[in-house]
Amino acid sequence: MTGLDWRRHTIGLLRPCLLCHRPALMRDEHGQPCHKVCAEQAADRTRPARGTAA
Ligand SMILES: [Zn+2]
Repeated sequence: MTGLDWRRHTIGLLRPCLLCHRPALMRDEHGQPCHKVCAEQAADRTRPARGTAA
């Protein structure tokens, strides 16, 4: 699992997550509603895993 640092990310009203479409408070780096876990999963899909890949 890719660990993203979202400590600087903002939180807003519940909006549908870009990735899973469930209500999300978190905003991604573009200010779009997105769960941190969804962003991490997306990052895992777009970047080859290192070291821990089966
Ligand atoms: Zn989500």
